[in-house]
Amino acid sequence: MSNHVYLPENERERLEALINFNILLKMPEKELELIVQLASSICQVPVALISIFENNVQHIKSSYGLNIYELSSNFDFGYQVYKRNSFVEIPDALLDPEMIKNRLVIGHPNFRSFAGVPIRSSEGNRVGTLCVINTQNRSLNREQIDGLNHLSEQITHLLDLRKQNKNLQTELNQLLHERINQTEIDLAAYKFALDQSSGVAIADQNGFIKFANDKFCNSSGYIKEELLGQAYSIFNSGHHHPDFFAAMWERISQGDLWHGEIRNRNKNGNYFWVDCSIIPFRDKKGRTYQYMAIQQDITEKKSAQDRMTLEARLISILSENHNIRQSIQHICEQICYRLEWEIGVYWQTENQAKTLSPFSYYQFTYPHNDAFKQDILKQQLQLGEGIVGRTLLKKQASWIYDLSNEMFSFDVQVVEEYGYHSSFSFPVLFNNEVFGVLQFFSTKAKKSDINIIQMFESTSLQIGAFIERKRAEEELLKAKQQAEESVISKDQFLANMSHEIRTPMNAIIGFTDLLSETGLTPKQSEYAQSVKIAGENLLSIINDILDFSKIESGIVNIEQSPYDIEEILRNIYDLLKISAIDKNLHFAFNFDHNIPDYVMCDGLRLNQILINLVGNAIKFTENGSVEFSAELLSSNGLFNDIKFSVKDTGIGIQNEKKDKIFERFTQVNNEINRKYEGTGLGLSISKSLIELMQSSLELVSQEGKGSEFHFTLRLQTGFKNEIHQDSFKQLKNNHNTKPHILLIEDNYLNQKLAKSVLQKFDFEVDLANNGQVGLTLLKNKSYDVVLMDIQMPELDGYQTTLKIRHELQLNTPIIAMTAHSIVGEKDKCMAVGMNDFISKPFDPELLYQKIVQKLPNTFFNTYSNYNISEGHKNAQTYIQELSGGDKAFEEEMTRLFLEQVPKDILELDKCIEEKDILKTRAQIHKLKSSLDIFGLQSISNQLALIPTHMSGTQGDVQIQSIVDQVHNELSDFYKQLKPINQLSETY
Ligand code: ADP
Repeated sequence: MSNHVYLPENERERLEALINFNILLKMPEKELELIVQLASSICQVPVALISIFENNVQHIKSSYGLNIYELSSNFDFGYQVYKRNSFVEIPDALLDPEMIKNRLVIGHPNFRSFAGVPIRSSEGNRVGTLCVINTQNRSLNREQIDGLNHLSEQITHLLDLRKQNKNLQTELNQLLHERINQTEIDLAAYKFALDQSSGVAIADQNGFIKFANDKFCNSSGYIKEELLGQAYSIFNSGHHHPDFFAAMWERISQGDLWHGEIRNRNKNGNYFWVDCSIIPFRDKKGRTYQYMAIQQDITEKKSAQDRMTLEARLISILSENHNIRQSIQHICEQICYRLEWEIGVYWQTENQAKTLSPFSYYQFTYPHNDAFKQDILKQQLQLGEGIVGRTLLKKQASWIYDLSNEMFSFDVQVVEEYGYHSSFSFPVLFNNEVFGVLQFFSTKAKKSDINIIQMFESTSLQIGAFIERKRAEEELLKAKQQAEESVISKDQFLANMSHEIRTPMNAIIGFTDLLSETGLTPKQSEYAQSVKIAGENLLSIINDILDFSKIESGIVNIEQSPYDIEEILRNIYDLLKISAIDKNLHFAFNFDHNIPDYVMCDGLRLNQILINLVGNAIKFTENGSVEFSAELLSSNGLFNDIKFSVKDTGIGIQNEKKDKIFERFTQVNNEINRKYEGTGLGLSISKSLIELMQSSLELVSQEGKGSEFHFTLRLQTGFKNEIHQDSFKQLKNNHNTKPHILLIEDNYLNQKLAKSVLQKFDFEVDLANNGQVGLTLLKNKSYDVVLMDIQMPELDGYQTTLKIRHELQLNTPIIAMTAHSIVGEKDKCMAVGMNDFISKPFDPELLYQKIVQKLPNTFFNTYSNYNISEGHKNAQTYIQELSGGDKAFEEEMTRLFLEQVPKDILELDKCIEEKDILKTRAQIHKLKSSLDIFGLQSISNQLALIPTHMSGTQGDVQIQSIVDQVHNELSDFYKQLKPINQLSETY
C-alpha cells in the first residue's frame, strides 16, 4: 500500500536506548574491566561493577572482585541507582529496610555498604550504572564520589566513540530494518482486519480509482479490472443532490476526513447504501495526492428503515381524506418511490371477484410509457390468469424476479414488448374478500424480498379496510346528493304547481263573482257564494301547503334585516281590526316602548306568525277580548329578549289536545271547527318558523276560558334602514304626493301590463326599456321603488342593480321581477343588493303589498289601506284579472300580443337555424314572458327544451317537432283571442 512508515517520537528514543545497550553489550571486556578495576581502587572497596539496562531489565556487564553470575540475580541496588538517576549511597545495609533483606547482605559475601552513579549516553539518556560495594560499613569521601562520576563519564565517551565506528552503522541499519519489518507485519494484520470488514478503494486526486479491495468490488458488482481507471462517479445513483457531493469534495480536498451515508448504484443498476469514510492523503508539501474510501454496506439497515417509513406513510395516506382513486395513486407513488418500482397498477375485482379490470395506473419514472398504459387499460383478467389472476386466486403476494419465465400471454407481452423484468403483486383484502390486486413493474431485475412481502401481508388488510370504509362513505354521499336533488326538484315542482294552480283558481273565483252579478235566484246566489268561499279557502290551503313543504325541505331561510316591530304589530292590528269589530270583540295591541325602534329579524315571517295567532284568536273567540302584545323582558343593549303573546277569552283548548294542535292538519274540535274555516296547518307552520328563529311556541289555555300563545325571541338591536330614510328625503324634495316607481323591463307586454297595474294603484310610473336607460333615469331623478326585470339583453337585472348600488351609490329599494320562481334565484337577487322579489306573472295584490312595504312612512295612510279587491272582478284570463274590466286595456294587450309574438317566433326560428344556443335561449326567454301573461306556459315550457336538443345528435328532428307543435298551438290560440274580445263586449 504505502512505503512510508512514520515512527512515533518515543519509539525513536527507545530505539536509540537499545542501540546504546547493544553497543555496551558488545563493548570489549577489557576496556570496561579497566574501569571497574579503577573504581575499586579509587573507592577502596573489594567489589565494583557495571550494569546496563534494557526495557528496565538489568544486565551485569562487567565486575571486579565478584563474578557476574553471583551478582546478576540479587543486585537490587543497581535498580535504585538507575531509577534515581543520580549518585546513591547506602553506608550501612543493616540499617536499610530494603537491603537488609538482600541475600548478598544476609549471606555470603555479607556486603555492608553500597554506592553507585548512573551511566548516561551523550544525549543524556540513562543507559546503566557503575557501582562499588564494601563488606564494611563505610561512606565514600568527596574525591571518591567525583572519581566515580568521572569514570561514568568515561564510559559515555567510550560509547560515543563506538557509535562512530562504521560497523556500528550497519548494525544500526539492520536494527532499524528489523523494526520496520515488525511494523509491516503489524500493518498487514490491520489491513487484513480492514479487508474483512470494509470495502476499501483508493482514488487519485482526480477521482479515478487506482485500488479496490475484494469487498469493495463485491458490493459494486464489478471485477477489479473493470474498476481500475474508472471515475468514482460510476457509482452515482442520482439519489443525492449535487450539493451533497460538492460539500464532500470541498472537505476532503482541504485535507479533512469526510464521513457519511451514500446511495450508490451497482453494475446491475441496483442501489446499495454505504456508510463511508473518505481519507485524503497528503504529500510533504501538503498537497492531496489520493483519497482512500473505507465503506460498509448498510443496504439492509437502510431498507429496513425504508420499509418502516413506507409503512408509516401508507398508513397516513389512508387516514388522509382522499377518495379511493386518489389514495390508490398516492399508495402506488409511495411504493414505487421507496421500493424502486417503475409502474403501479390497481386491478379491481368485478363479477364477484372472478374478473380483474384496471382501476388505476401510475408511472413513477419518466418518460411515461403511454403505449403500456393503453395496453394495461384494455386488459381484463380472469381468476387464475397470469400473475395477477394467480394473486387473486391464492390471495397471496407474488414476486416474479424474471417475467420471461411466465406463460400467460399478457405477461409475455409485458416482457417482450415493453421490456419489464420483474413484477410484484399483492391482494387488497377485507374480511378475506379480495377487493383488488396492486401490481408493480420494473425494467430492472429485482430480487424477491421476504421482508417486503411480509410487510404487505398486513398493509394490504389496512388498504382493504380503507376501501371498505370509503365505499360506504361514497354510497352515503351519493344517497345524500340524491336526497338533496330530490328536495330541489320537489321545490321546483312546488313552485311550478303553485303557479299552475293559482291561475285557474283565480279564474274560478273571478267567474263566480261574474256569475253572482248575472241576476241569480237567491238559491243560485247562495251556491255561487259557497263556490267562491270554497275557492278562496282552497287558495289559502295551497299557500299553506307550499309554505309547509318549504319548511319541511329545510329550504326556508330566516333573514335578518332591521324592522320596526311596532309597525309590524300595528299593520296586523289594522288588517284584522275589521273581523274583530264584526264579532264585537274588544281588540287591543300593547307595545312596550322600551323595545328598540329597530331590531334585526325576519319581518315577513314574524308578520305571518302573528297573523296566524291573532287570526286564530279572533276566529275561536265569540265574546270578550283578543289582545296581543310585545314586551321587552331583558336587554344588554345589543341583544333584546322580546316576548310576543296573543291572548283571547275564546273557547280554549282541552289539556289533552294541547300538543295535538301543533301537528299538521289538526283541528282539535271537529264539530266546533266546522263552524270555522282553516287548514289545520297554520300553527304547525308558526311553530316551525319560531323554532327556526331559535325559540319555541308556548301555549297556556283553559277550556271554555281562553288561550294564550306566546314566544320569546332574542333579537339584535338594529338601525333604521337607510333605504327608508333616503327615499323619505327624496320624497320631501320632490314635493310630490304620489310614489314614484321606475319600471325597468324589456318585454313590451310586461311593460304594458305592469304600467297599467301600477297606475291603477295610483303610482307614477316611468319606464326604462333596458338597464342602461334605467341607470340614466336614476341619475337624473329620484324614485321610491325600482321594479327590475332580471333577464334583459346586454345589461341584465343583476348587473344593473350592481351599478345602481356601487356606481350610482343609490339605496333605492329594488324589487326583482322574474319568470322563474326557483330557490336560489331570490338569494341571488338579494346578494346583488335587491330588496325583494316577485315572480311573473305577478299577483297584483302581492306586488302592491311589496311596493307599499318599501315606501317611506309618509305614504302609510294613503296607501296601506288601498283596496284592490276590485281587481279580481271581470277576469277570465290573467289579463282580464289585471285589466279590472278595462276593455281598452285588454284589447291593447291582445293587439300587442298578436303583433309581437309572431315576430318573435320568426326571430327564434332564425336563431335555431343559425345554431346559436345563447341567442336562442335569450329569444325563448323573451317569448316566455309574453306567453305566460296569456296563460301559455305549456308552450313556453316546450320552447325551453330547445336549447338542450341543440347540442344533441338527434337535435334537429326533435327541435323541428317542437317548433311545429308550437306553431300549431299558437295559431289555435290566436283564434281563441277573438272570443275574449267578444266576452268583454258583453259588459
Ligand atoms: P286552522 O286555524 O287553520 O284550523 P291552526 O293550525 O292555526 O289551523 O290551528 C289548529 C287548531 O288549533 C285549530 O283548528 C283550533 O282547533 C286550535 N286553535 C288554534 N288557535 C286556537 C285558539 N286561539 N283558541 C282555541 N283553539 C285554537
